[in-house]
Amino acid sequence: MANPVRVRFAPSPTGSLHIGGLRTALFNWLYARKHNGAFVLRIEDTDQKRYDPTALATLTEALRWAGLHWDEGPDVGGAFGPYVQSERLALYQQWAQWLVDNGKAYKCFCTTERLAQVNKDKEARKELPGYDRFCRRLTPAEVAEKEAQGLKPVIRMKMPLDGQTVVQDVLRGDVVFENQTQQDAVLLKSDGFPTYHLAHVVDDHFMQISHVMRANEWLPSAALHMQLWLAFGWEIPVYVHLPVMLNPNGKGKMSKRNPPKDKYGNIIPVMVHDYINAGYLPEALDNFLANIGWNFGEERELFTMAEAVERFDLARINPANSAFPTEKLDWLNGEHLRALPLDELARRLRPVLEKAGFSVDETLLQQVTPIVQTRLKTLNEVVAMAGFFFRAEFIPAAPDKLPQKKMDAASTRLALEQSISVLETLRDFGRETTHAAVEKLTETLGLNNSQLFGVLRTAVSGQQVSPPLFETMEIVGQAETLRRLRLALESLKTLAA
Ligand code: GLU
Repeated sequence: MANPVRVRFAPSPTGSLHIGGLRTALFNWLYARKHNGAFVLRIEDTDQKRYDPTALATLTEALRWAGLHWDEGPDVGGAFGPYVQSERLALYQQWAQWLVDNGKAYKCFCTTERLAQVNKDKEARKELPGYDRFCRRLTPAEVAEKEAQGLKPVIRMKMPLDGQTVVQDVLRGDVVFENQTQQDAVLLKSDGFPTYHLAHVVDDHFMQISHVMRANEWLPSAALHMQLWLAFGWEIPVYVHLPVMLNPNGKGKMSKRNPPKDKYGNIIPVMVHDYINAGYLPEALDNFLANIGWNFGEERELFTMAEAVERFDLARINPANSAFPTEKLDWLNGEHLRALPLDELARRLRPVLEKAGFSVDETLLQQVTPIVQTRLKTLNEVVAMAGFFFRAEFIPAAPDKLPQKKMDAASTRLALEQSISVLETLRDFGRETTHAAVEKLTETLGLNNSQLFGVLRTAVSGQQVSPPLFETMEIVGQAETLRRLRLALESLKTLAA
């Protein structure tokens, strides 16, 4: 029987989660769920220079927000822990020493100054930079002597000097590396911390990872990793190097330092938290990312993660790097937003409104939610569109905003007066009744719908964009609607006729 599927997402906690990182996590998660396997979260915090202690919390928050729950990891535990690399140092040290003892790696005492000089000399000779393997030739006696002097070595991989290393990748087939081009990379630093190369191989082995699905940026180091697996004699996991997400113009990786722009020149965020804060739904961001490099089939771009789990298949991953289709996100977000049950949408709108400073009455929220659902593209848009419902004190629009296209103060005044007299006589203030009454009035006044509706919308909501007018008036109520219309009429007096 094949090994059970065990995949991992192995971020380095150096800041908030990058959108590309989320996509890597998502593909691993989809694969695990599809095969009833385990999705493991492993924290690769061995680069102490880049370590950010708050990053772990931010990172797990982003993954949870996206619904990518892990079966094993730092906080949930599991049979293969600890899941934080800085808590596994003894293991890496033990296996680095094993490699030295078995002639697969060696101790190197070269100083940074010497390494710099080697590179400088190489440059002068127009050679590629890289370590000259000086310490590979040290005898055991020389090594012992240096250690006796208290010198702290790094441990380097003894790469084969000729021949080829073949890395089998599910998406790319056999990737062949000429060993001559390879370096004797550092596996363990002099402070006892491992590099990524050693740590991930040791961990993937001891955590019984079946598939290593990671960003294609790691492919150039894959020959080294393959040699490590061979040196240890461990069973090699399946490698899948995922295509990289490029800037929308197809040029360069999406980076925070050099933020990409859309065609209007707006900056496209690259960190997951920016999308959370901008009011995107996790369902939509997941759907959006699943479409980058993978496809659902049937030319379908809109789907849920439950549907994607059913379909997920490595064969549908396109190994070519693909540009970030930024214009798709708003569309997907709107679609997922409309698919949410009303209660759920209300639950998500509440914190957005509260963050904008509104105190949110639950009954009112329940009334407003269905009428904004069809119009919102992001959760945050609710503030501009419907925040006015939750204001303690109504803020009227400036009078010059009341007249609509081809209207002057006089025709606007007339429109308001007539609307007031029609609306105040209504016994029922439901949306159909008011709609019918106002529509009829439109004809009488010789206006079109967008003119009269526009005047009323501006008067009742205080703004030019609002949820549907008659639903809005129903929620605001007859007395308050009339009060606002009269207020608008009054304010018109300040406008010249
Ligand atoms: N810590 C590595 C990174 O963040 C993990 C790569 C991998 O998945 O092996 O890029």
